[in-house]
Amino acid sequence: MARKPMMAANWKMNKTLREAQEYTAALLPRAADAEGVDVAVFVPFTCLHEVARMAEDSAVIAGVQNFYFEDSGAFTGEVSAPMLLDVGARGAIVGHSERRELFCETDDVVARKAARAVEAGLLPIVCVGETKEERDAGGMWEKCSGQVRRVMEELPDDTGGESIVFAYEPIWAIGTGDTATPDDCQDAIGRIRELLEELQGDGFAEEVRILYGGSVKPDNVADTMAQEDVDGALVGGASLEVESFMELVEAARQTVPSDE
Ligand code: PEP
Repeated sequence: MARKPMMAANWKMNKTLREAQEYTAALLPRAADAEGVDVAVFVPFTCLHEVARMAEDSAVIAGVQNFYFEDSGAFTGEVSAPMLLDVGARGAIVGHSERRELFCETDDVVARKAARAVEAGLLPIVCVGETKEERDAGGMWEKCSGQVRRVMEELPDDTGGESIVFAYEPIWAIGTGDTATPDDCQDAIGRIRELLEELQGDGFAEEVRILYGGSVKPDNVADTMAQEDVDGALVGGASLEVESFMELVEAARQTVPSDE
Protein backbone atom coordinates (compact mmCIF):
# COMPACT_ATOMS: atom_id res chain seq x y z
CA MET A 1 0.00 0.00 0.00
CA ALA A 2 1.42 3.39 -0.96
CA ARG A 3 1.45 5.86 1.91
CA LYS A 4 0.90 9.52 1.07
CA PRO A 5 4.14 11.44 1.67
CA MET A 6 4.04 14.36 4.09
CA MET A 7 6.20 17.47 4.24
CA ALA A 8 5.71 19.28 7.54
CA ALA A 9 7.02 22.71 8.50
CA ASN A 10 7.83 23.38 12.15
CA TRP A 11 8.15 27.15 12.49
CA LYS A 12 9.14 26.80 16.16
CA MET A 13 9.07 30.22 17.94
CA ASN A 14 9.23 32.27 14.74
CA LYS A 15 6.98 34.65 12.79
CA THR A 16 4.69 37.49 13.70
CA LEU A 17 1.10 37.43 12.51
CA ARG A 18 2.00 39.57 9.48
CA GLU A 19 4.88 37.26 8.55
CA ALA A 20 2.62 34.23 8.93
CA GLN A 21 0.03 35.82 6.62
CA GLU A 22 2.66 36.58 3.97
CA TYR A 23 4.10 33.06 4.17
CA THR A 24 0.69 31.39 3.95
CA ALA A 25 -0.43 33.59 1.06
CA ALA A 26 2.71 32.60 -0.86
CA LEU A 27 2.51 28.92 0.10
CA LEU A 28 -1.12 28.13 -0.71
CA PRO A 29 -1.10 28.52 -4.52
CA ARG A 30 2.18 26.63 -4.78
CA ALA A 31 1.13 23.82 -2.43
CA ALA A 32 -2.02 23.35 -4.51
CA ASP A 33 0.22 21.97 -7.27
CA ALA A 34 1.77 19.39 -4.97
CA GLU A 35 -0.78 16.71 -5.65
CA GLY A 36 -0.24 13.49 -3.76
CA VAL A 37 1.68 15.14 -0.91
CA ASP A 38 0.30 16.25 2.47
CA VAL A 39 1.69 19.70 3.19
CA ALA A 40 1.48 20.75 6.85
CA VAL A 41 2.54 23.89 8.75
CA PHE A 42 2.95 23.80 12.53
CA VAL A 43 2.74 27.39 13.65
CA PRO A 44 2.85 29.36 16.92
CA PHE A 45 -0.50 29.56 18.75
CA THR A 46 -0.69 33.27 17.96
CA CYS A 47 -0.81 32.57 14.21
CA LEU A 48 -2.98 29.46 14.18
CA HIS A 49 -6.39 31.05 13.77
CA GLU A 50 -5.27 33.15 10.83
CA VAL A 51 -3.23 30.43 9.08
CA ALA A 52 -6.07 27.92 9.52
CA ARG A 53 -8.59 30.45 8.17
CA MET A 54 -6.43 31.17 5.13
CA ALA A 55 -5.87 27.43 4.52
CA GLU A 56 -9.43 26.24 5.12
CA ASP A 57 -10.33 25.79 1.45
CA SER A 58 -7.00 24.16 0.66
CA ALA A 59 -5.45 20.79 1.43
CA VAL A 60 -2.75 22.41 3.59
CA ILE A 61 -2.89 21.15 7.18
CA ALA A 62 -2.58 23.91 9.77
CA GLY A 63 -1.43 22.76 13.18
CA VAL A 64 0.41 23.65 16.35
CA GLN A 65 3.61 22.60 18.05
CA ASN A 66 2.15 21.58 21.40
CA PHE A 67 -1.04 21.39 23.46
CA TYR A 68 -2.20 20.00 26.81
CA PHE A 69 -4.09 16.72 27.21
CA GLU A 70 -6.82 18.03 29.55
CA ASP A 71 -9.76 19.79 27.88
CA SER A 72 -10.21 22.72 30.30
CA GLY A 73 -9.56 23.84 33.85
CA ALA A 74 -6.85 25.24 36.08
CA PHE A 75 -3.85 24.74 33.80
CA THR A 76 -2.40 28.22 33.53
CA GLY A 77 -0.72 28.92 30.23
CA GLU A 78 -1.95 25.78 28.48
CA VAL A 79 -4.15 25.28 25.41
CA SER A 80 -6.41 22.24 24.88
CA ALA A 81 -7.43 20.11 21.89
CA PRO A 82 -11.03 21.49 21.78
CA MET A 83 -9.66 25.05 21.81
CA LEU A 84 -7.39 24.22 18.88
CA LEU A 85 -10.15 22.52 16.90
CA ASP A 86 -12.34 25.55 17.55
CA VAL A 87 -9.92 27.75 15.60
CA GLY A 88 -9.25 25.32 12.78
CA ALA A 89 -6.25 23.20 13.83
CA ARG A 90 -6.01 19.84 12.11
CA GLY A 91 -2.78 18.57 13.65
CA ALA A 92 -0.27 18.98 16.46
CA ILE A 93 3.38 18.11 16.98
CA VAL A 94 3.68 16.07 20.16
CA GLY A 95 6.86 15.34 22.12
CA HIS A 96 9.30 17.41 20.10
CA SER A 97 12.73 16.98 21.70
CA GLU A 98 12.86 20.71 22.48
CA ARG A 99 9.73 20.28 24.58
CA ARG A 100 11.01 17.11 26.18
CA GLU A 101 14.36 18.72 27.05
CA LEU A 102 13.53 22.37 27.78
CA PHE A 103 10.03 21.92 29.19
CA CYS A 104 10.55 18.59 30.95
CA GLU A 105 7.95 16.61 29.00
CA THR A 106 8.14 12.97 30.05
CA ASP A 107 7.26 9.90 27.98
CA ASP A 108 4.02 9.66 30.01
CA VAL A 109 2.97 13.22 29.20
CA VAL A 110 3.82 12.75 25.53
CA ALA A 111 1.81 9.52 25.40
CA ARG A 112 -1.24 11.19 27.00
CA LYS A 113 -1.04 14.08 24.55
CA ALA A 114 -0.81 11.70 21.58
CA ALA A 115 -3.83 9.73 22.81
CA ARG A 116 -5.86 12.90 23.44
CA ALA A 117 -5.05 14.20 19.97
CA VAL A 118 -6.22 10.97 18.35
CA GLU A 119 -9.44 10.92 20.42
CA ALA A 120 -10.15 14.55 19.56
CA GLY A 121 -9.52 14.11 15.84
CA LEU A 122 -6.29 16.11 15.70
CA LEU A 123 -3.47 14.42 13.78
CA PRO A 124 -0.50 14.06 16.16
CA ILE A 125 3.04 14.06 14.77
CA VAL A 126 4.82 12.23 17.58
CA CYS A 127 8.57 12.85 17.77
CA VAL A 128 11.05 10.29 19.06
CA GLY A 129 14.84 10.26 18.95
CA GLU A 130 18.10 9.84 20.78
CA THR A 131 20.87 12.17 21.92
CA LYS A 132 24.42 11.96 20.57
CA GLU A 133 25.60 10.39 23.82
CA GLU A 134 22.87 7.74 23.67
CA ARG A 135 23.73 6.94 20.06
CA ASP A 136 27.46 6.74 20.73
CA ALA A 137 26.76 4.38 23.64
CA GLY A 138 24.72 2.08 21.36
CA GLY A 139 21.43 3.15 22.96
CA MET A 140 19.58 4.55 19.95
CA TRP A 141 17.06 1.74 19.73
CA GLU A 142 16.46 1.40 23.45
CA LYS A 143 15.57 5.11 23.62
CA CYS A 144 13.41 5.27 20.48
CA SER A 145 11.60 1.99 21.03
CA GLY A 146 10.80 2.96 24.63
CA GLN A 147 9.28 6.25 23.47
CA VAL A 148 7.22 4.54 20.76
CA ARG A 149 6.03 1.74 23.10
CA ARG A 150 4.83 4.25 25.71
CA VAL A 151 2.78 6.14 23.10
CA MET A 152 1.23 2.94 21.76
CA GLU A 153 0.23 1.82 25.29
CA GLU A 154 -1.88 4.95 25.69
CA LEU A 155 -3.61 5.08 22.29
CA PRO A 156 -7.25 3.98 22.00
CA ASP A 157 -7.30 0.29 20.95
CA ASP A 158 -9.05 0.97 17.66
CA THR A 159 -6.58 3.64 16.49
CA GLY A 160 -5.91 3.27 12.79
CA GLY A 161 -2.55 3.90 11.17
CA GLU A 162 -3.89 6.97 9.35
CA SER A 163 -4.73 8.70 12.68
CA ILE A 164 -1.17 9.25 13.86
CA VAL A 165 2.22 10.11 12.36
CA PHE A 166 5.59 9.39 13.95
CA ALA A 167 8.75 11.40 13.31
CA TYR A 168 12.21 9.96 13.96
CA GLU A 169 14.19 13.03 15.00
CA PRO A 170 17.68 12.25 16.32
CA ILE A 171 18.37 15.11 18.70
CA TRP A 172 21.95 15.54 17.48
CA ALA A 173 20.65 16.26 13.97
CA ILE A 174 18.12 18.96 14.88
CA GLY A 175 19.23 22.44 13.92
CA THR A 176 22.87 21.35 13.68
CA GLY A 177 23.36 20.79 9.95
CA ASP A 178 24.53 17.28 10.90
CA THR A 179 21.78 15.29 9.22
CA ALA A 180 21.47 11.51 9.69
CA THR A 181 22.63 9.48 6.70
CA PRO A 182 19.90 7.97 4.51
CA ASP A 183 20.95 4.52 5.80
CA ASP A 184 20.62 5.66 9.41
CA CYS A 185 17.17 7.09 8.66
CA GLN A 186 16.04 3.88 7.02
CA ASP A 187 17.49 1.77 9.83
CA ALA A 188 15.67 3.67 12.59
CA ILE A 189 12.42 4.19 10.71
CA GLY A 190 12.32 0.62 9.40
CA ARG A 191 12.75 -0.65 12.96
CA ILE A 192 10.02 1.66 14.25
CA ARG A 193 7.67 0.28 11.59
CA GLU A 194 8.53 -3.30 12.57
CA LEU A 195 7.87 -2.46 16.21
CA LEU A 196 4.50 -0.92 15.29
CA GLU A 197 3.62 -4.09 13.40
CA GLU A 198 4.46 -6.17 16.48
CA LEU A 199 2.39 -3.88 18.74
CA GLN A 200 -0.60 -2.98 16.55
CA GLY A 201 -0.60 -5.35 13.59
CA ASP A 202 0.53 -5.20 10.00
CA GLY A 203 -2.40 -3.10 8.74
CA PHE A 204 -1.49 -0.32 11.15
CA ALA A 205 2.22 -0.56 10.35
CA GLU A 206 1.57 -0.44 6.61
CA GLU A 207 -0.62 2.63 6.94
CA VAL A 208 1.18 4.73 9.55
CA ARG A 209 3.46 7.43 8.22
CA ILE A 210 6.91 7.86 9.72
CA LEU A 211 8.85 11.01 8.91
CA TYR A 212 12.49 11.90 9.39
CA GLY A 213 13.50 15.20 11.00
CA GLY A 214 16.91 16.74 11.55
CA SER A 215 18.58 19.31 9.28
CA VAL A 216 16.59 18.33 6.20
CA LYS A 217 17.54 20.73 3.39
CA PRO A 218 16.86 20.97 -0.34
CA ASP A 219 20.25 19.36 -1.07
CA ASN A 220 19.78 16.26 1.09
CA VAL A 221 16.02 15.64 1.00
CA ALA A 222 15.93 13.46 -2.12
CA ASP A 223 18.31 10.86 -0.69
CA THR A 224 16.34 10.71 2.55
CA MET A 225 12.99 10.48 0.77
CA ALA A 226 14.31 7.66 -1.43
CA GLN A 227 14.43 5.31 1.57
CA GLU A 228 11.73 2.65 1.59
CA ASP A 229 10.25 3.41 5.00
CA VAL A 230 10.69 7.20 5.04
CA ASP A 231 7.34 8.86 4.33
CA GLY A 232 8.41 12.49 4.49
CA ALA A 233 10.08 15.02 6.73
CA LEU A 234 9.48 17.31 9.68
CA VAL A 235 11.52 20.42 8.96
CA GLY A 236 12.58 23.36 11.10
CA GLY A 237 15.13 25.77 9.61
CA ALA A 238 14.53 25.01 5.93
CA SER A 239 10.77 25.47 6.34
CA LEU A 240 10.94 29.11 7.39
CA GLU A 241 11.14 30.42 3.83
CA VAL A 242 8.44 29.35 1.37
CA GLU A 243 11.03 28.95 -1.38
CA SER A 244 13.12 26.31 0.37
CA PHE A 245 10.09 24.61 1.93
CA MET A 246 8.54 24.26 -1.54
CA GLU A 247 11.76 22.65 -2.80
CA LEU A 248 11.25 20.01 -0.11
CA VAL A 249 7.58 19.60 -1.00
CA GLU A 250 8.58 19.17 -4.64
CA ALA A 251 11.12 16.48 -3.68
CA ALA A 252 8.35 14.64 -1.86
CA ARG A 253 6.09 14.97 -4.90
CA GLN A 254 8.78 13.35 -7.03
CA THR A 255 8.38 10.17 -4.98
CA VAL A 256 4.66 9.88 -5.80
CA PRO A 257 4.11 7.27 -8.52
CA SER A 258 2.44 8.76 -11.61
CA ASP A 259 -0.92 7.35 -12.78
CA GLU A 260 0.41 5.95 -16.05
C1 PEP B 1 12.57 20.26 13.87
O1 PEP B 1 12.27 21.36 14.26
O2 PEP B 1 11.85 19.31 14.16
C2 PEP B 1 13.76 20.09 13.03
C3 PEP B 1 14.01 18.92 12.53
O3 PEP B 1 14.54 21.22 12.83
P1 PEP B 1 15.70 21.39 11.71
O4 PEP B 1 15.10 20.98 10.40
O5 PEP B 1 16.06 22.83 11.77
O6 PEP B 1 16.83 20.48 12.11
